[in-house]
Amino acid sequence: MGWFEQYGRKDLPWQHPRDPYRVWVSEIMLQQTQVATVIPYFERFLGAFPDLDTLANASLDDVLHHWSGLGYYARARNLHRCAISIAEDFDSQFPCDQTTLESLPGIGRSTAGAIRSLACGQPAAILDGNVKRVLARHYAIEGWPGKSRVQKRLWDISERLTPEKQCAEYNQAMMDIGSMVCSRGRPACHQCPLQATCLAFAQGNPTAYPQSKPRRELPVKQACMVIVLNDRGEVLLEQRPPSGIWGGLWSLPECPPDIPLNRWCSRYLSVEVDRQQLMSERRHSFTHFHLDITPVRVRIKNPRYSLMDEGNRVWYNLTQPDSRGLAAPVKRILQELEIDDETTWETS
Ligand code: SF4
Repeated sequence: MGWFEQYGRKDLPWQHPRDPYRVWVSEIMLQQTQVATVIPYFERFLGAFPDLDTLANASLDDVLHHWSGLGYYARARNLHRCAISIAEDFDSQFPCDQTTLESLPGIGRSTAGAIRSLACGQPAAILDGNVKRVLARHYAIEGWPGKSRVQKRLWDISERLTPEKQCAEYNQAMMDIGSMVCSRGRPACHQCPLQATCLAFAQGNPTAYPQSKPRRELPVKQACMVIVLNDRGEVLLEQRPPSGIWGGLWSLPECPPDIPLNRWCSRYLSVEVDRQQLMSERRHSFTHFHLDITPVRVRIKNPRYSLMDEGNRVWYNLTQPDSRGLAAPVKRILQELEIDDETTWETS
């Protein structure tokens, strides 16, 4: 606590004011993302959705748009569902008890503990990635924390250490030590207030803890993303189904690898290909697989604006982009795309 007094972070945007809504949004954003990356997203998000009711009344598309780039979009979908649930079932008042919090979409044990301690002034243990790392090193806990046995041991320690008083400061201090001192790759043990009792330091191998997930080769999948351009320089986008990868986000239509592009465009989009051109392949990695994406620019002969501009499809104007949640690699492809330039086309 003495270290926190001197070095801890007390000016993060979600700390002023430190209410449950702001703490909750920040905790969800911080689940897989570092503080420095989260800050500008948090500020933009709060600018658009300053309170729970505004978020509950917003469209999912708008929420995903403001999340675009942060990744792990299930977090944004759960955030939106959770806001609706609190607005409808709790009269827009954030609950402050562990069981109710954990019953809400996207809120697990640690996030519930963070909301209770940081925003509700209650003693509650947390175990986010930073705290996990500090405890695993300090107590030289063997095993990968994803294993329930290891996880349980870390939770037991966290519960035991969490104080009744000044719990918010204690939890913030633990998170700060984890991110500012006991970092993943290069822990600054010589600056660490826990050094005297740290077992991993005593063993001379802090980075051996926590142990990593046992490695396995990730499978590689292929996707051919079709960039259908019309003569107005617009690109056809499709909204993805609500669940699965990039759920609810807007993406480019995908041609299955076993169907020739011309035939697929004719059958699936009811358009004839005028010209086509391959763009360079790129890899997008998910937790469970790599996706090798080959974008193909396609100019069509018979644009059917009205038929396509319905339901889950839209013509997207590259020069006046609107506020849609775009899958990250699609956003990059669209940024690279030059409006139809006659000299760059190859005849199909
Ligand atoms: Fe982490 Fe080193 Fe501090 Fe131990 S002494 S908690 S390994 S920074």
